[in-house]
Parts: sequence; C-alpha cells; structure tokens
Amino acid sequence: MLTEERTQRTIDAKGPVLTCAVTDCSYNRFEACHAPGVIIGDVHPACDTFTVGPASIAAEEALVAECAVSECMYNTKSNCHAAGITVGFHSAHADCITFRERTQ
Ligand code: SF4
Ligand SMILES: [Zn+2]
Repeated sequence: MLTEERTQRTIDAKGPVLTCAVTDCSYNRFEACHAPGVIIGDVHPACDTFTVGPASIAAEEALVAECAVSECMYNTKSNCHAAGITVGFHSAHADCITFRERTQ
C-alpha cells in the first residue's frame, strides 16, 4: 500500500527525456534534450517545446513538465509517469514515441 507521501511523489513524477532524435531543435545537443521542461501536446503526442533557432542549453536534463495526451497509458492528470521518454521524428516534427495508447 502506498503511503500518502509516496502517492504524492508518484503524482508529481516527471520523467526525463532520455533521447531526442530531432537534432535541428534549439534544445538538442548530441541527441540529448536541454529544454527547461518539455510539454507534450494534446490529442497528438507531439513535442510542443520543439523550437528552431540559436542553440539553447536551458537545463542539464529535460523533464516532462506536462503531457496533455490523456489517451496515453502513462498519463494521469497531465503528468507523465513513464520512467523516461524518447522523442523522435514524425513527418517533419517531433513526437513522443514512448506514447502507448491506454487499453480499457
Ligand atoms: S524536440 Fe522537444 S524533446 Fe527534442 S530537443 Fe527539442 S524540446 Fe527537447
Ligand atoms: Zn506527430
């Protein structure tokens, strides 16, 4: 049985971006993400933090700040509970490829 403290930690879980193949993003350096926090989009699991411009190392390790993909099995109330996510290309944009559709 989970203690209240552990339950809270679980609710607040924010896994890291383990790797990101989208090397043309400003926050990407050698396939590691250095964004201050990554936001994954709503119906579609795209990385909304993706941006093109000058290189930006805003954080040593990027965490999933928010995920609005409620259909994903790792998602609870906009928090991602995956141990970490992998981001890759989908067409010409970045998607969370750790997304797994929830089964009832
Ligand atoms: S596309 Fe998203 S996950 Fe990849 S480096 Fe950019 S902000 Fe990070
Ligand atoms: Zn996509």
